[in-house]
Amino acid sequence: MQLYQEQTIRVHNSLTGKKETFVPINEGHIGMYVCGPTVYSNVHLGNCRTFMSFDMIFRYFRHLGYKVRYVRNITDAGHLVDDAEDGEDKIAKKARLEQLEPMEVVQRYTVDFHNILEKFNFLPPSIEPTATGHIIEQIEIIKDILEKGYAYEVNGSVYFDVVRFNESNEYGKLSGRKLEDMIANTRELTAQDDKKSPQDFALWKKAEPEHIMRWPSPWGDGFPGWHLECTAMSTKYLGETFDIHGGGMDLKFPHHECEIAQAEASNGKSPVKYWMHANMLTLNGKKMAKSTGNSILPGEIFSGENDILSKPFSPAMVRFFMMQAHYASILDISNDALLASEKGFNKLMDSMNSIKLLPVGNKTDFDIEAWRQSCYDAMNDDFNTPILIAKLFDAVKHINLIKEGSETITQKDKELLLETMQNFVLDILGLEDKQGSSVDSEKLSGVVELLIQLRKEARENKDFTTSDKIRDQLAELGIQLKDGKEGTTYSL
Ligand code: AMP
Ligand code: ZN
Repeated sequence: MQLYQEQTIRVHNSLTGKKETFVPINEGHIGMYVCGPTVYSNVHLGNCRTFMSFDMIFRYFRHLGYKVRYVRNITDAGHLVDDAEDGEDKIAKKARLEQLEPMEVVQRYTVDFHNILEKFNFLPPSIEPTATGHIIEQIEIIKDILEKGYAYEVNGSVYFDVVRFNESNEYGKLSGRKLEDMIANTRELTAQDDKKSPQDFALWKKAEPEHIMRWPSPWGDGFPGWHLECTAMSTKYLGETFDIHGGGMDLKFPHHECEIAQAEASNGKSPVKYWMHANMLTLNGKKMAKSTGNSILPGEIFSGENDILSKPFSPAMVRFFMMQAHYASILDISNDALLASEKGFNKLMDSMNSIKLLPVGNKTDFDIEAWRQSCYDAMNDDFNTPILIAKLFDAVKHINLIKEGSETITQKDKELLLETMQNFVLDILGLEDKQGSSVDSEKLSGVVELLIQLRKEARENKDFTTSDKIRDQLAELGIQLKDGKEGTTYSL
């Protein structure tokens, strides 16, 4: 008997707008596809949040005993600047600006992506395919769509015919849009446009002579449209219809809407049973995005080297901060929110680490089985990690009462308590600290705060020899002090 046979998960399906009971297509098996990063720059914390939400979901399915094939791609071609239909490829642009081969850009940022995910304790996906590794599959799908009459070729490019598709299917069903409204709200096509309708999107684009990322095709040298790669790779590895497709909320339209259209046009089947969308990480109330400069890089938060941060935060602590919000809610990041979260994180980890040392008695004063099930209930309710964390803190309260001698626990229940806490904290939330324990970082923080205080006192006493010595010797150890209006902060 597997755990999944005892637990019923309800998932918010973006396609129906409802929470639905999760029943995989093949019992005991789950196929999950998540749109991966476009590797033309370093991932920011917003990108990490979306991938972390799906890592947590992947972890929970595995914990329940499902055999999961988790496919998360690498977009290394076809994603144009500003997510536009025309213009330069994001990777080709970076390669031109930095005088690199496009594949050097891809390699550099794929390595960065993997390094960051490793620090955050992500599980690797089962398959991590690349767009450029699946050009042949993409060309085959285009041929199929052309044959079925849902696409047309113009001057070496192939476009998806949205109007024609909408006659027999429903374009806009995922994002809740109507084609007529979309057409009414877009500009007229100009004479230079190859498209029949502004809503049509590129399946294949002709490569102009200066375009360096190009492949031969039946329509001449070109490159695939961005939406097509995910259809090609998800179909290849998960089949024409699979269980879960995820990505950030901002991908719902047009990217995922176009994926549905491509799949339905080529094989007549709706590709995905449950569409899941993770919400945005914001900074100062605005979506975190590299292009607007409103972003924090993971490396900056681990070292504290960002003006909004008063100190460094460990990857496990940042992960805890993210898990304190439901994946489908917006989360705003700030120094104060991180500091508050850190207190909770340290309390939770200390409490979990103290379970082994708890004294045992001949009865247990709280219902461990019921508490354990309440943790599952939280996760079963559309992966509600904030509720789960509240349940974990219920256990922390009892652990403290046992330590004080106000409550007791039996040996058997103590073992169940420890196992359950470890399952949820380490295996499901993934809060293992890979960079030294949270206790170490808390101690370091305490020592640096003490030295900051002593330096302040030395300066007040005009003892600049001591205050400079503290600052310089900390700098030699790689700890930079930053004096600001609100006092002194530090970075590593
Ligand atoms: P990209 O590399 O731009 O294709 O984005 C990779 C993933 O990060 C996509 O699933 C996006 O939806 C997601 N993403 C981008 N910005 C944010 C943000 N501020 N918060 C959460 N997810 C984001
Ligand atoms: Zn995608």
